[in-house]
Amino acid sequence: MTDQYKKFIEQVGLPVKENEILAPYTTYKIGGPVDLFIECRETKDLIVVVQTARMYEIPFFMLGGGSNILIGDKGFRGLVIKNVTKNITVRGMKGAITKGIPDGSVYVEAESGVPFNALVRYSIEEGLQGLEMHLGLPGSVGGAIFMNSKWTRPPAFVGDVVYQATILTQSGEVKAVSKDYFKFSYGSSVIQKTGDIILSVIFALKRSNKDALWKTANESMEYRKTTQPQGVKTAGCVFKNISLVEAVFAGTPNHTTSAGYLIDKAGGKSLVVGDAAVSPVHANFVVNTGKATSHDMVQLIDQMRTKVKETFGVDLVEEVKRIGEF
Ligand SMILES: Cc1cc2nc3c(=O)[nH]c(=O)nc-3n(C[C@H](O)[C@H](O)[C@H](O)COP(=O)(O)OP(=O)(O)OC[C@H]3O[C@@H](n4cnc5c(N)ncnc54)[C@H](O)[C@@H]3O)c2cc1C
Repeated sequence: MTDQYKKFIEQVGLPVKENEILAPYTTYKIGGPVDLFIECRETKDLIVVVQTARMYEIPFFMLGGGSNILIGDKGFRGLVIKNVTKNITVRGMKGAITKGIPDGSVYVEAESGVPFNALVRYSIEEGLQGLEMHLGLPGSVGGAIFMNSKWTRPPAFVGDVVYQATILTQSGEVKAVSKDYFKFSYGSSVIQKTGDIILSVIFALKRSNKDALWKTANESMEYRKTTQPQGVKTAGCVFKNISLVEAVFAGTPNHTTSAGYLIDKAGGKSLVVGDAAVSPVHANFVVNTGKATSHDMVQLIDQMRTKVKETFGVDLVEEVKRIGEF
């Protein structure tokens, strides 16, 4: 163990595991050992851990639900911070009471480690509209903000209903930022570049009817069940959809922007490398069918990309983030 690691462990004052295998913390169930692994149950601990890691120049990686990452078989040299903060609080309300029924916005704050599904269920049960279509989205609030995770029916991004967030900046400052700060776009938010850590997020939700919200949420779940593989080891869509401009330029069938459709039409659905396979249900989902290695995954993803490039002349961009040593 390096001196830096020893000093970090001494100073941070929380239990630290050494050489923890990361595969169980990911939905692919792939990934080797990390030098240091720490779980944070409280936001104040997250701040201390990140600041101490920075002080000792220890590379670190923030792990939410592990549902959008591919970790290398050789693992990660440095520290993984598993975020298991879990508080949800109503922060305030705005609006009037119309005909005896409260109207307007309700501001709900979730710590960044809250499982996104727990937040969705909470908001529906409270009769609050804005997140219900995301029922079934794996992972944490922090991961969903990092990715600006999305749904298609009805089209919605998690960033749409963000009001404000508390972040820990690269310079170690804890500050509140508004929605504009994130520059949300498809599959992206500014923190992918800045390296800010999300501590908590306030969502502005509208009062609505609980039954109507459950109906929308259950429709999302049904759609997931019919269009996505169930009960498998996957990280969802590997590639981003392409833009309409790219689709028109490349002359894709009916100007489709769907990466899954393009992979399917390019013959990608039959691809298999070791225990990594393209899902027969959804061509943009790669599945670990047994003991796939990160190497199997990388090779398979490269083959999918090549097939689409050869068939349509389109360069697919990966949505799943690669972490560590392969
Ligand atoms: C079955 C399945 C279905 C899916 N369906 C969808 C879908 O419908 N729509 C969609 O968009 N995605 C979908 N995904 C992908 C994935 O669930 C989302 O991208 C999710 O929001 C990732 O959250 P996470 O907590 O698991 O992030 P992780 O995989 O843990 O991390 C992803 C990235 O976010 C960063 N990060 C995490 N927390 C923080 C934080 N607090 N501060 C700063 N950075 C942070 C990590 O460092 C990493 O770079 C699906 C995945 C699966 C397995």
